[in-house]
Amino acid sequence: MEPISLLVGAALLVTGFAAGRFGRRRSTPRPVTPVCGCGHVLSQHDRERSTCYAELRRETYDKKGRFAGHTWVPCTCRQYVGPMPVDEVFVPRVLPPVD
Ligand SMILES: [Zn+2]
Ligand SMILES: [Zn+2]
Repeated sequence: MEPISLLVGAALLVTGFAAGRFGRRRSTPRPVTPVCGCGHVLSQHDRERSTCYAELRRETYDKKGRFAGHTWVPCTCRQYVGPMPVDEVFVPRVLPPVD
């Protein structure tokens, strides 16, 4: 093998190694608040009544198709499907009694 290609290979190895180290060191930002599929947080959902309290801004148009402003419509979401906040996930499991 030629000395040049060896050098190039070594340089590539070092570059890849460095990239891997830096890539691992960089922490990915976690989402601060878990949100539902509708984009609203858990606190905006009523689990007993299966509704989302949040309202969505809809663009409205007149008969001629011209923009006529915004209206607020209730979110059509019926159930929170997003990730549960941490304190609700780690509920101690009740073990069945052992005979
Ligand atoms: Zn929702
Ligand atoms: Zn919603």
